[in-house]
Amino acid sequence: MPLEEIGWLRRGACRTSDPDLFFPLAPTPLQEARAKAICAGCQVVEECRAYALEAGESEGIWGGLTPEERRRTRLTRPTAS
Ligand code: SF4
Repeated sequence: MPLEEIGWLRRGACRTSDPDLFFPLAPTPLQEARAKAICAGCQVVEECRAYALEAGESEGIWGGLTPEERRRTRLTRPTAS
């Protein structure tokens, strides 16, 4: 699904933030902390996290999680049976 079609994204707290915070070329702990602080106050953080996990987004911070944190979450969450 194209990002423009994701309605909740328009309510994201990051919509007015510097995209480099969320999609940095070279992530740093400070950049990650700043992006995560914005996500923590976002009204669509749950939708965002669920989308990124389901879509397998491999880049950037989504729903307060880094790519590595999403990868670990996908590995440890229970699968539907
Ligand atoms: S949770 Fe973070 S990345 Fe997702 S829409 Fe909100 S501010 Fe943006």
